[in-house]
Amino acid sequence: MSACLRSRKAAQEVLDLVQGPRRAPTDNRRATTRSLQRARAVTKIDEPLRFDVASLLVAAVPGRVTLVGAGPGDPELLTLKAARALREAQIVLYDHLVGDDVLALVPAQAQRICVGKRAGHHSFSQRAIIELMLGLARSGRPVVRLKGGDPYVFGRGGEEAQALAEAGIPFDVIPGISAAQGAAAAAGIPLTHRDHACSLVYVTGHLRGEGEPCALDLDWPLLARPGQTTVIYMGLAMLPTICAQLVAHGLSADTPAAVVERATRSDQRTIVGTVQTLPALALAHGAKPPALIVVGSVVTLQRTLGATPAPALCATAASTAACK
Ligand code: SAH
Repeated sequence: MSACLRSRKAAQEVLDLVQGPRRAPTDNRRATTRSLQRARAVTKIDEPLRFDVASLLVAAVPGRVTLVGAGPGDPELLTLKAARALREAQIVLYDHLVGDDVLALVPAQAQRICVGKRAGHHSFSQRAIIELMLGLARSGRPVVRLKGGDPYVFGRGGEEAQALAEAGIPFDVIPGISAAQGAAAAAGIPLTHRDHACSLVYVTGHLRGEGEPCALDLDWPLLARPGQTTVIYMGLAMLPTICAQLVAHGLSADTPAAVVERATRSDQRTIVGTVQTLPALALAHGAKPPALIVVGSVVTLQRTLGATPAPALCATAASTAACK
């Protein structure tokens, strides 16, 4: 059974439902009746929201939550442990970045709940996701919280684990291959190389709190250091600003840079240029998230290490000049 939490009203109702007062075991019957009434009300309000109402009852012993890294997209990049957790799952809360190929491992009878977030379209706030996860775990059944890449790399897995620890709910973390590792291997851009980079920095280009826009406030002098590879997650929308700031802080405008879009998936694209040319190239090629920006001279290795049959777009006649 799958459910997508689309409407705000429904999301609020679910929050009210799972945030309801916790009862001692002796009070459970009355609490159960109320929970059932409220749960039935919720299922009437929003059609896409189809919960097994029993899953929202409060059990004496909470279920274990497993934060699972789904990797960058290719299901064969799941760890054995992650694949087993998915095959044995009863309830899966998953993010928008998790692909159908990975979800296909979840048994058909399991509940799949999409709490997906797209850039700029947060369908469910982080707080609501946490409350839902806690509420489902308190119902006594094991919960898989499935996140793209690695749960502890820009995935808010740390916040979710903190909430579980504070609530006294047992949990495990199964790491995943982060997008940077997936993109490096699939696009042919080693992240470090003795001739090119002896340090590696991961940074987020998206510093927008929920509902509170704020400036891109990065440590530009650090990022502009030569002999380093910088990987920027969630940075595509800010690509022109990022490149301009790197140059303004002393990085050579000729420094190679790439956008790796949908890394490890069948429709992966790599756009190669320099810090100066990449914003225009990305625009010209209609680059879209999910994508990483990789800055540093390791990007030159893409020409020889880039996998066939998906050549980087800089190799096309139209953009070769701009890639120099
Ligand atoms: N926890 C994830 C990152 C989540 S943040 C991880 O470890 O990879 C989401 C961002 O990750 C996206 O905006 C994009 O910048 C990057 N990303 C995730 N999957 C990607 C993919 N297949 N190709 C390129 N970038 C990806």
